[in-house]
Amino acid sequence: MSRALLEVNNLKTYYAIDKGGLFKKETRYVKAVDGVSFRIREGEVFGLVGESGCGKSTTGRSILRLTDPTDGEVLFQGKNLVTLPEKEMQRVRRDLQIIFQDPFASLNPKMTIGQILEEPMIVHGIKEKAERKKRLGELLEAVGLHPSHANRYAHEFSGGQRQRVGIARALVLRPKLIIADEPVSALDVSVQAQVINLMQSLQQQYKLTYLFIAHDLSVVRHICNRIGVMYLGRIVEQGDCEKLYENPKHPYTQALLSAVPVPDPNWQRERIILHGDVPSPINPPVGCAFHPRCPYAMDICKTERPEFREVENGHQVACHLM
Ligand code: SF4
Repeated sequence: MSRALLEVNNLKTYYAIDKGGLFKKETRYVKAVDGVSFRIREGEVFGLVGESGCGKSTTGRSILRLTDPTDGEVLFQGKNLVTLPEKEMQRVRRDLQIIFQDPFASLNPKMTIGQILEEPMIVHGIKEKAERKKRLGELLEAVGLHPSHANRYAHEFSGGQRQRVGIARALVLRPKLIIADEPVSALDVSVQAQVINLMQSLQQQYKLTYLFIAHDLSVVRHICNRIGVMYLGRIVEQGDCEKLYENPKHPYTQALLSAVPVPDPNWQRERIILHGDVPSPINPPVGCAFHPRCPYAMDICKTERPEFREVENGHQVACHLM
């Protein structure tokens, strides 16, 4: 687990919300992703967490070019996906797959599960029908379904089973990296653990690397090796999962973690309540974007953006307190 499979450098994804024109001087942008950098090593699970609207899903979609990045670099096996011609990008997508949050919305209701799983194989040139059928049966069994389920439609399954189909579809081309975009947040709590356990065992079986996007920190702890915490389009803390859970450094990470239930009733974290809403990404606060909500904000936080600093081996934080 040493070579970087994916390297994201200073990725930016901005959406223009109105154009500058005759009477307007400048175009305004929603800065959904504003300078995100991280690396994922082969065989690793990297978690990207933060509140809704922090830019974590847009980061995942920008990596796959499902939305166009504005700037930055996404190096996958040495190729910069941001500038890759579309035709070559289609070939790379075979190695890069996504699991969507809402399994029902992402499965075509008019197609059987077999047709849904065969479609990417046909698009990517697996011509032999027997080979497709064989792979289909193997995959359905691998995700805990029966090969006969191939003849059914998505509405005939429960939410957990549909997400198993979503996982099978992501695996069908034997990818190297899977971007799992909130893969369990639409599921009942009782089913979430089953799907996480399944993803963990498939990771071993198929030697997968995951980018695991979630808003719930208690979910990512069980599956991730490292975590990046995002706030308003930027990563504010990143490091080894256990270290970050046991000793979070950034005040925002501390607040997020204080809301996670602890299994030991004799040891509870003090809950940190964040006041105010997440500021608008159209007009983010100057300096540290977290300063209007931070209980430790100082004068410098209102004017200077904190640099990302290494506070211990492999643990980086963007905060003037460090
Ligand atoms: Fe809080 Fe300042 Fe650190 Fe931002 S830089 S998290 S405002 S202490």
